[in-house]
Amino acid sequence: MKVTFPHMGQVWVPLKTLFDKNGVECIVPPKCSKNTISLGAKYSPEWVCMPFKTILGNYVEALELGADTLIGVAGPGLCRLGYYAKLHESILRDLGYEFQMCTFDWQEKQIVGLAEFIKTLLREDSWRKIVGDIKFGLTQLFYLDDIERHTHAIRPREREQGTTSKIWQTVGDRICAAHDPATLSKTKKQIMDELNAIPQVPGVRPLRVGILGEFFMSMEPFVNMDLEEELGKMRVEITRGAWVSDWAKVWLFLEALGFGHGKKVKKAASPYLKHDVSGDAMQSLGETALHAQEGYDGIIHLQPFTCMPEIIAQNMLPQVSRDHDIPVMSVILDEQMGKAGLVTRLEAFVDLMERRRYRKEREGKVGSKAQG
Ligand code: SF4
Repeated sequence: MKVTFPHMGQVWVPLKTLFDKNGVECIVPPKCSKNTISLGAKYSPEWVCMPFKTILGNYVEALELGADTLIGVAGPGLCRLGYYAKLHESILRDLGYEFQMCTFDWQEKQIVGLAEFIKTLLREDSWRKIVGDIKFGLTQLFYLDDIERHTHAIRPREREQGTTSKIWQTVGDRICAAHDPATLSKTKKQIMDELNAIPQVPGVRPLRVGILGEFFMSMEPFVNMDLEEELGKMRVEITRGAWVSDWAKVWLFLEALGFGHGKKVKKAASPYLKHDVSGDAMQSLGETALHAQEGYDGIIHLQPFTCMPEIIAQNMLPQVSRDHDIPVMSVILDEQMGKAGLVTRLEAFVDLMERRRYRKEREGKVGSKAQG
């Protein structure tokens, strides 16, 4: 068995570790690239959203490298995502590939369903071992998210541009290579120390911007054209709304126990959207209002072309922006989009936010609470 799975940010790290530790050969698809997107777009229906095309491209690249077992997610819900694994399978079989498709319904039994899925896939008898492996994988995810959050704070303040990103590019491999809890926590500490040692420009007051919108687009840097890095170069400190560790908290029932802030988000979104329309629309609206209350300078809303939930959110966002006095820039992403165009739009948005902050400060209303 040669297992593969699609990319989404750093999710490949705990998956590869899981298979390595259990002696299962795992083919991590090449990082998302132009080739991935063009393969995906070539074999996908034209109207389908960017996550579908990217995932299909990942599968084709991994199959070409010899993978024979594909992992995908399925499940109910209003978003089309739940049906994508079936469609991917059908397209890939039409292309002549032979493989086994293993789908995991992430909504049905959540963390319990994940444990059952892994147990069957690995043909492992011991529940104790499976639970230990999942716990270790979740620790990796939580550490990765902690480190990435820290890069968001350091990047806009670094003296030499690109230093933070250079360290960040090594993080996935280093966390993946740590196969026991002690090595893992030592590795995390080393990385955090390296980030803290990056020389910073004194007195910088970065603009604070929330990155909201569709989960996959926010998580995968190639499809959002390295938005976070580009904003960091413009000395903007970002806060991303989508984190796999936050998602895992839902799985771990922490939301139900009151540790998440889903209820707060729903309440903030309720004047604009009464019902969940799936995807991340509720979060896009609610978090925009909450970010405004926290003094953010602006919001960038990411949506894949043809994404139903985010089209709904996009139509409400101008009203949220007016009601809460926060600038919002919506970015529609597809395989036709060019990076230069995005960077130009970002520069204009940053100018707008700077002027707004200057005006507010002169009027005595400080918009951004960030201090360098
Ligand atoms: S939320 Fe939108 S972009 Fe994401 S999978 Fe669903 S339809 Fe596609």
